[in-house]
Amino acid sequence: MVSRTIPVETFDLVLFGATGDLARRKILPSLYRRFHAGQVPEDARIIGAARSDLTDDAFRKDIRAAIDEFVSKAKRDGPTIDAFVERCSYIAIDAKGDGGWSELKSAVRDEAIKAFYFSVAPSLFGPLAAKLRENGIACENSRLVVEKPFGTDLETAKTLNADLAASFDEHQIYRIDHFLGKETVQNLMAVRFANVLFEPLWNERYIDHVQITVAETVGVGGRGSYYDTSGAMRDMVQNHLMQLLCLTAMEPPTRFDPDMLRDEKLKVIKALDPVPAEDVVRGQYKADGKEPSYREDAENEDSLTESFVALKVGISNWRWKHTPFYLRTGKRMTRRLSEIVVQFKETPHSIFERDGGSKANALTIRLQPDEGMDLSVTIKEPGPGGMRLVNVPLDMTFADALGAEDEIPDAYERLIMDVIRGNQTLFMRGDEVEAAWAWTDPIIDAWEERRDRPHAYAQGSVGPEEALMLLHRDGRRWRDLEGGS
Ligand code: NAP
Repeated sequence: MVSRTIPVETFDLVLFGATGDLARRKILPSLYRRFHAGQVPEDARIIGAARSDLTDDAFRKDIRAAIDEFVSKAKRDGPTIDAFVERCSYIAIDAKGDGGWSELKSAVRDEAIKAFYFSVAPSLFGPLAAKLRENGIACENSRLVVEKPFGTDLETAKTLNADLAASFDEHQIYRIDHFLGKETVQNLMAVRFANVLFEPLWNERYIDHVQITVAETVGVGGRGSYYDTSGAMRDMVQNHLMQLLCLTAMEPPTRFDPDMLRDEKLKVIKALDPVPAEDVVRGQYKADGKEPSYREDAENEDSLTESFVALKVGISNWRWKHTPFYLRTGKRMTRRLSEIVVQFKETPHSIFERDGGSKANALTIRLQPDEGMDLSVTIKEPGPGGMRLVNVPLDMTFADALGAEDEIPDAYERLIMDVIRGNQTLFMRGDEVEAAWAWTDPIIDAWEERRDRPHAYAQGSVGPEEALMLLHRDGRRWRDLEGGS
C-alpha cells in the first residue's frame, strides 16, 4: 500500500535537551524519517539547544551518528542525510542562564511555525517557558512540547501546569504520551467509531472484562536511582495505561476534535472508582543468579518501590458498571508486550455443548510487538469429523495488511508532525493529567502509609503469584503473555 505523505507547513523546531538520550534515540531520528518521507519542508530548521558547548558541525556529526544507529538502512541515503543535517544547527543555552537567548531569537523566523520541544528534566519546564516569554521568542503561533513525567503527584502536576500557563496558553501546550502516537491506539478509535460492528457490544452487557498489559523484559539498571523515586504506578499506570483505559472506555465524542475527545477521556478518569488495598498487587523482581535484583539495580537495599503493579479498576458509569478493567505492568517480565484485551462474555446458551462448546470472543489490540488487532472467533474445525469447534484469530497485523513493518511510522514521527500541524488530539490536556493524579495519589498514599512491601517475583516471569490471584478469585485469568489464550 502506498502511504500518502502531505508536507507540513514550514517550521523552526527548537529542541532543548538536544544532546540527551531521548533526542538521540527518538526525536532526531524521527525528524529525519519524516524528512526522508518528504513531509518536512526543505526550508524547515531544527535548532538544538543544551548547556554543552558544541559547534554546529559537532552537533551535525552527532545527528549523523544517531541516524546511523537508529534509522533503518533502507532510509539512510547520503544526499538525504546531508540535506537533513544542513537544516540543523546548535546554540549553547543553560535553561537557567542568560546566555544564548538573543542568538536563539535571531535564529527563529517570525513567519514560520515555532515549536519548542522540552526534552529536559521537568524542573526546567518553568524556567525555559519563562525565558522564552521574557526574551520575546515565543509568540501566538508557537507550540510547546513537554515530555513525561508530568509531575509526581497532583500537587507537582498543578505546579507544572501553572508554570507553563504563565507563559503559554493551553492550546499551545502538547504533553506527550508516546503510547497515543501508536498506530494501533488510533485504530482502536477507528474500529470502535467507524464500524457498526463493535459499538453496540461495547458495554457491560457483552464485555466480561478488559485486560491492559504493558510488560517489559528490561530492568531498571542504569536509571535505577531515578526509578526508585517513581515506581511502576507513577511511571506507567498514571500515564500510559490510563490513556489506554480511557480510549477503550470512553463514550464516542461528537466529532473527532481534540477537545471533544479529551472531554470524553476526562469523564472516564472522573468515573474511576477508588481502588481498595485488596485490588492492588505490587512486586519487585528478585536476583536470578546472572542478573541483579531490583533493589541492587536501584542501589537501595530497603526499597519499597514496585517494579510491577497489577490493579483491578472499576468504572462507575452506565456503560461499565459491572465490567472490571485489570491493569498490569512490570519490568523483567517474560516477554515485551503491550496489549489491550477486550474479553467478551460467553454466548447465553451453547447449542454445541457436546462438541467442545464455543469460547467467548476476545478482541486483542496489540501495541507492540507486531502492531495490530485480532478477534478470536469460534468456528467449525474443517473436515468430516462432525461438529468440532475451534477458536481461531481473525488476524489483522498492520505490517501484513498495510505494508512492510518499516512503513509503520514511529509514534514520535506522528506526534511531532501533529505538533507542527497544530493538532492536539493525541496529547494530554492539563486537566486530564491532574485528574489522573487525583485518582492515583490516594492509591500510592495508602501503600506508603502502610509501608507495604512489594511481593518478590522471578525475572522472566509474569509477575508475583498474587497478581494471578487477583483474577483467579474473580473466576478469570490473565491472557498468557506468550500469546496463548
Ligand atoms: P538526558 O539524557 O539526561 O538529557 C537531558 C538533556 O537536558 C541533555 O541534553 C542536557 O544537556 C540537557 N540539560 C540538562 N540541564 C540543562 C540546563 N540547565 N539547561 C539546558 N539544557 C540542560 O535525559 P533524556 O533521557 O534525554 O530525557 C529528557 C526528558 O525526557 C526527561 O524529562 C525524561 O524523563 C523524558 N523522557 C525520556 C525518555 C527516554 O527514553 N530517554 C522517555 C520518555 C521521557 P547538557 O548537559 O549539555 O545541558
